[in-house]
Amino acid sequence: MSRIPMVDLQAQYQSIKDEIDAAFSSVISDTAFVGGKYVKQFEEDLAEYLSVPYVIGVNSGTDALFLSLKALNIGKGDEVITTPFTFFATAEVIAQTGATPVFVDINPNTFNINVDLIEEAITKNTKAIIPVHLYGLPAEMSKLMKIADKHKLEVIEDACQAIGARIGNKRVGTIGTTGCFSFFPSKNLGAYGDGGAVVTHDKNIYNKIIKLRNHGSKKKYFNEELGFSSRLDGLQAAILSAKLPYLDKWNELRRHHAQGYSKALAENESLTTPKYDFDSDKYHVFHQYTIRTENRSRIQNILVENGIDSMIYYPVPLHLLPAFEYLGYTEGDFPEAEKASSAVLSLPMYPELQQSIISIITGSIQ
Ligand SMILES: *Cc1c(COP(=O)(O)O)cnc(C)c1O
Repeated sequence: MSRIPMVDLQAQYQSIKDEIDAAFSSVISDTAFVGGKYVKQFEEDLAEYLSVPYVIGVNSGTDALFLSLKALNIGKGDEVITTPFTFFATAEVIAQTGATPVFVDINPNTFNINVDLIEEAITKNTKAIIPVHLYGLPAEMSKLMKIADKHKLEVIEDACQAIGARIGNKRVGTIGTTGCFSFFPSKNLGAYGDGGAVVTHDKNIYNKIIKLRNHGSKKKYFNEELGFSSRLDGLQAAILSAKLPYLDKWNELRRHHAQGYSKALAENESLTTPKYDFDSDKYHVFHQYTIRTENRSRIQNILVENGIDSMIYYPVPLHLLPAFEYLGYTEGDFPEAEKASSAVLSLPMYPELQQSIISIITGSIQ
């Protein structure tokens, strides 16, 4: 039997091969490799999809977060609140600006930041909050925005795992001051290389990030300030424009597969399935399908024996990583994030997954 992978990018390519190949050859014929009309087109396409006025294509999701912080003049002496249970980049960029990451524990049922603990972490130096819509599930944005408004804090949404997710009819990424997306190949909308975008309703922030992504210049060789080299390239943009019309269908399929997993695993006593109500006003896009189990290494071994891939996102909470040792946190500071790190396991998830494969996976976990 062949291996069952976490994602199958080849299957997706085969399903839209003609469109992808056509997108590639147009960009090459037009030699529109960096910036240019394909980037502009994708920025317009994404703006329409998200119902947001401004989109800036950048190099990666990491840069989308970093440039958002820079555009808000966040740096040395400032504090930014975020979750310790996320991909490293979320907090890395805070530290890269010179500001201090301040962690707040998660809600064990959603794996997202526990908004009820945010206020006690706010000090006079707090400038912003970065909620992460982890695994594709929207964070508690209505409560979080109220807290941010009350304390005059900016909100930068890390929507890297959640493109297309919504709360009611509002897409995540369009609720805070800026929203940040990643087009890393395995994300729900994946490019064929690195890519990212910042979205905003604020024209001033848009103008700042347009400059910051391109050496501080809007006009060539007229650099108004110091910036960065963080442009989206034309090939990636054209591929993203070709894929975007399929995103809603792909996200629906992910939800369907998640329901299939949860149904098949409901009676399995060695694990718990995601605590998510499919009728909720939070539209989860299941970037990952993640179970919790006290028997993780046993289940992982069974999966390995059956040729099934699985992944731990994330095995070490950020406050316990060597890179953040200087912040002075210790074990026990964020018990829910620590417990989650020792118990989560993500199973294969991609739109082209088949129910028969899900049955093989769930059947093997006994
Ligand atoms: C993928 C990801 C990022 C970083 O995106 P890149 O495009 O890989 O730089 C940031 N935050 C989260 C939560 C992510 O999943």
